[in-house]
Amino acid sequence: ESQTASTTSAARPDEKMEQGDAADYVLKKELRAWCWLPTGKWELGRVQSISRDSARILLSDAKVLTVPVENLLPANPVMLDSVDDLIKLGYLNEPSVLHNLKHRYSHDMLYTKAGRILIAFNPFKEVPLYGNDYMVAYRQKCSDSPHVYAVADTAFNEMMREGTNQSIIISGESGAGKTETTKFAMQYLAALRGGSEIESEVLQTSCILEAFGNAKTCRNDNSSRFGKLIELHFNPSGRICGAKIQTSHIYSYSLCMQSRVVQQASGERSYHVFYQLCAGAPPLLKEQLNLKPAYEYEYLKQNGCLTIDGVDDAQRFHKLMEALDIVKISKEDQENAFAMLAAVLWLGNITFTEIDNEDHVEVHMSEGVTNAAKLLGCEVCDLMLALSTRKIQAGNDSTFQKLTLKQAIDARDAMAKLIYASLFDWLIEQINKSLEVGKSRTGGSISILDIFGFESFHKNSFEQFCINYANERLQQHLYRHLFKLEQEEYTQDGIDWTNINFVDNTDCLNLFEKKPLGLLPLLDEESKFPTATDLTLADKLKQHLNTNPCFKGEMEGTFTICHYAEQVSYDTTGFLEKNRDPLHLDSIQLLLPCSCQLSKLFASHILKKSQNPMGNLLQVKDFDQQNQSVGTKFKVQLFKLMQRLENTTPHFVHCIKPNSKQLPGIYEHDLVLKQLRCCGVLEAVRISRSGYPTRMTHQQFANRYGFLLLKNVASQDALSVSVAILQNFNILPEMYQVGYTKLFFRSGQVTALEDIRHRTM
Ligand code: ADP
Ligand code: MG
Repeated sequence: ESQTASTTSAARPDEKMEQGDAADYVLKKELRAWCWLPTGKWELGRVQSISRDSARILLSDAKVLTVPVENLLPANPVMLDSVDDLIKLGYLNEPSVLHNLKHRYSHDMLYTKAGRILIAFNPFKEVPLYGNDYMVAYRQKCSDSPHVYAVADTAFNEMMREGTNQSIIISGESGAGKTETTKFAMQYLAALRGGSEIESEVLQTSCILEAFGNAKTCRNDNSSRFGKLIELHFNPSGRICGAKIQTSHIYSYSLCMQSRVVQQASGERSYHVFYQLCAGAPPLLKEQLNLKPAYEYEYLKQNGCLTIDGVDDAQRFHKLMEALDIVKISKEDQENAFAMLAAVLWLGNITFTEIDNEDHVEVHMSEGVTNAAKLLGCEVCDLMLALSTRKIQAGNDSTFQKLTLKQAIDARDAMAKLIYASLFDWLIEQINKSLEVGKSRTGGSISILDIFGFESFHKNSFEQFCINYANERLQQHLYRHLFKLEQEEYTQDGIDWTNINFVDNTDCLNLFEKKPLGLLPLLDEESKFPTATDLTLADKLKQHLNTNPCFKGEMEGTFTICHYAEQVSYDTTGFLEKNRDPLHLDSIQLLLPCSCQLSKLFASHILKKSQNPMGNLLQVKDFDQQNQSVGTKFKVQLFKLMQRLENTTPHFVHCIKPNSKQLPGIYEHDLVLKQLRCCGVLEAVRISRSGYPTRMTHQQFANRYGFLLLKNVASQDALSVSVAILQNFNILPEMYQVGYTKLFFRSGQVTALEDIRHRTM
């Protein structure tokens, strides 16, 4: 019974209901209807009596309140307390959704479907939902409760059955559980036909990527500072036969990913691998690299956060070395990589002496500079020169300009960042080589995307601007997919879908991309003017875009974008510099003199970055012209990613962080609500329901309502019974369509029938 009840409940007066409709609903309803009262938080109550426009509501603590009817929102009957798919909720209003999710979370039911999207709560504790027994249960379809294993299983079966490539798109804010969820999905797929070497190689990549790409932040002790797409390739019998990792970070030497190497906010750490190396390097390696404990290094000790509760860095280092062995990175390459890490650390200990009465500095001779030079494979004097001067090219002549203290520190930090960024890219390249798919590749692929979710803070800068732009693209991908599925369902059943209006976020994407007057083109244009400032940028945006409904220019260098999730206000401070990314060039120049002797590990990588396609080293100014802005590079990266996803059948998982304390058992109502709004899950469910949201097969419909007309329904054909019911109970023709197999209803239309049924039973 509860099964059918939940199908029909989708048709109640509806999710789109504004508060005025709510009043209407309560008034029309019989007494005792469940409803939500806005008492600061939403509280559940039952209607006791209704006068003209106020209602007396009985609360669970036996208190009775009189409230204006228009303030009420309808609640779902208590029997729907814990539906495993939000689509089964009659009312999709926010309190109803939150109530359902809270109930499930408090019973360790971490997964809930929202139509075609899986919502996954982070429990911040071990929950017995994973491991071999569970994998087997999902593989054998013994369990149908929502789970990331079920998503992976669906993707796998669809790939095998239809030969189409699949993708699993995992989103959510920092600390919501994306990376863990990615691992669960990979483990499931690796175990399906598993046991071979390549599967364990694939699983070990997580350990390496996390060591080099993750760090402790205030929102997550193991926060990934990059987005990644892992493409798993299968052979025709369904075994993994190779994999490819593509990372995406906001590629900029002054930004997110790399700046962490030299500087961290309070309570945060640099990348795990530095601490692991210092704590866990075997004695011989320690000696080779002149390694000291982490607290001896400026880059690591500056804010006093050196360890993470419950994490043994030394032990992690051994795991890391094992993983590097498993993905077949040679011992020599491993040592070179560790040498580069040590070089970064020693660079950070280099200090400068200010020359009296002059506005420039010299490098202070120290352990830092000698060790760094040794590890980089260059002469100490060359390194000292590189860190305290800048080469100025004028025609064929070059001169050296001495640097100020600030310039020298920037130069040193830029070098450290460049080395780390190159090392990270090199590592991904090596892993990809090792996991490369053999020639025999003939099966399909499943790509798993673990990417930064929508961000909206008190103060939002260029980083959030880029991240939220990426999320608009992903959201459109979701909308398009849902729209396509809806359309297919209507067409298949032979009904006319042309008059259905689906909304999406194309307007907001146009705001970003449209040439010449989109946010990104205007930003690039302004970045080219040497005299432009962040304030002139803000003015320019305001001047050209203020008529755009998705944009609001505001005072003093801020502007607001109406994202699909919510409005976000951005502060343009730093936009131009971050978009131009000026350090990039200088740091490459710095390393060039060293690079000939620099370990072959990544020398070629640095050269590649600074060479044009003709293979000549570029002059500074040519390089500058070739060099795309950060915003544009980010867009190109994103488009490449979207192209790859475009050719796959997507499956969506949205991770949710129940509290910001990273603790189990706490459900922060407002935090969850904000994330639900940001991920657009409710919007997506609404799209699915915006045409003819209620669908029932002819048979279901006849079985459920047939008895209202006839004693013996079973002897009649379902379609005739259905049509007779529709006519008899005056359901207006524009409110439904009859398909080949199903009846499709506009929202709210089955309510009347449900009421009659209820009274008759
Ligand atoms: P994100 O990648 O979204 O930033 P993570 O996947 O790193 O977040 O998750 C943050 C932390 O939350 C993990 O380190 C882990 O402790 C915990 N966590 C996340 N998902 C789960 C889960 N399903 N079960 C247990 N713990 C989890
Ligand atoms: Mg992560």
